[in-house]
Amino acid sequence: MEKVCQFCGNKNFKNANVEFTYKHDNQLLLVKNVPCEQCEFCGEQYFHADILKKIEQEFNEIYLRGKKPFLEIRVPIQNFSDIRKAS
Ligand SMILES: [Zn+2]
Repeated sequence: MEKVCQFCGNKNFKNANVEFTYKHDNQLLLVKNVPCEQCEFCGEQYFHADILKKIEQEFNEIYLRGKKPFLEIRVPIQNFSDIRKAS
């Protein structure tokens, strides 16, 4: 069965390592170098279910069991409506 991009219909994919953001209840985990298949035309990324499962498990390790991640950063959050006032 041939794989087709759900967004653009393109059939060519390449293997890529990308940054993946997992978000759950206002908590974030960024995972670098996640393997995926990427549409060569529109860039849409497709992840295997077992990869997503691993990321979810790591999220739980960090947030529920206190595992120390590779790196932690501070992330500012802004409302777009507040951006205009600033200028
Ligand atoms: Zn595509």
